[in-house]
Amino acid sequence: MIEFSFVIPVYNEADNLIALNNELRAVISRLEEPCEVIWVDDGGVDGGLSIIKTFAESDPNCRYLAFEKNCGQSAALAAGFCAAKGRYVITLDSDLQNNPMDILEMIPYLAEYDMVMGWRNDRHDTWWKKFSSWFANSVRNWLSRETIHDTGCSLKIMKTKYLKNIRMYKGMHRFLPTLMRMEGAKVKEVPVSHRPRTKGVSKYGTWDRAFSGLRDLLAVRWMQDRKISYHIKETSDEP
Ligand code: UDP
Ligand code: MG
Repeated sequence: MIEFSFVIPVYNEADNLIALNNELRAVISRLEEPCEVIWVDDGGVDGGLSIIKTFAESDPNCRYLAFEKNCGQSAALAAGFCAAKGRYVITLDSDLQNNPMDILEMIPYLAEYDMVMGWRNDRHDTWWKKFSSWFANSVRNWLSRETIHDTGCSLKIMKTKYLKNIRMYKGMHRFLPTLMRMEGAKVKEVPVSHRPRTKGVSKYGTWDRAFSGLRDLLAVRWMQDRKISYHIKETSDEP
C-alpha cells in the first residue's frame, strides 16, 4: 500500500528537473513509507520529458504522464490525482521554489488534519507578485468566506479519498483547500520556506491570473452556495 503519491506538474522546467528529483529522493529516503512519484509533463517543448523518462526508467516507484499539448496546471494536477495510488497526495511545483524537505514538518499534522498546506510567509518573489498574491488571497477569502493565507502555495498534502471526489476545472488548483473543505476535509496551514526561481520562467502574468482567478472564484462561491447537503433519516436499503 503506497502512503504518499507525489504529483509534480511540469511545463518547460527542464533545467530544474534533475535537482528536484535529487531533492525528492532525499526526502523520500527520510519518510520510511512507501512512496511513488508521478511526473506530469504538461506539453513541454524544452526536452523535459526525456529527462523525466530517465527518472522512470531508473526507479520503479517513479511514473510519468505526458500531455499532447499544454493544458494548464489544473489539468496536470487532475491527471496526477487520477493516477495516484497513495493514501495521500503531495503536490509541489517543479521549479524548485518549494523545498521538499518542508514536507517532513508538515506530515505530523496529518494525525489531526486531512489536508496540510504550506504558507509561504517569507516569500521570495518580486514585490509586485507578493502584493498581487496578497490582494488575490484577500478577495478570495472574502468571497469564499475562507481564512487561507496562501492558497497559491503548491506544497500541499491531501488525503486522496477526498481529493478523488473533487471534479477539477481549469484554475481550480487555486481553490483546493476550499474544495477539500466542501468534501468534509479538515485543513491546516503550516509555515514553509520559499526559494527564488533561479532557472526557467514563471508561466503566469499578473492580469491573466487575476481575471481568470476572479471568474473561477465566482464559480467556487456558486458551488458553495448551491452545495447539496442531506442526511438520510430512514431507508429500506441494507445498511
Ligand atoms: N505549470 C504547469 N502547466 C502550466 C503552467 C504551470 O504544469 O500551464 C507548472 C509549472 O511547471 C510549475 C507550477 O505549475 O511547476 C507553477 O508554475 P509557476 O512556477 O510558473 O508559477 P508561479 O510560481 O510563477 O506562480
Ligand atoms: Mg514558481
